[in-house]
Amino acid sequence: MTKEWRDLRVRRALLFVCLAAGALAALLLRSTALSVLAELALVGIVAALVWLQMFRCPACGERFFKRFDGVNPFARKCARCGAEQQVAAE
Ligand SMILES: [Zn+2]
Repeated sequence: MTKEWRDLRVRRALLFVCLAAGALAALLLRSTALSVLAELALVGIVAALVWLQMFRCPACGERFFKRFDGVNPFARKCARCGAEQQVAAE
């Protein structure tokens, strides 16, 4: 797996960590500390989504998720050239 694909995995993992923290805080929202955690998780989710969408395809250099008709942040193929994300170590 190349450095670029590892970078994509890190970006996705950060998004899921923020989503999990937000969901946990929302489920247990009974104290001020958890509401602060929920707010931080929300900011983290937005930041992680923006960072994820800025990922550039290692094959074509264009934005991996963005097309003229929208964005799919969970796509496994480049929206421009169709290059598939490498998931296994090479
Ligand atoms: Zn591409």
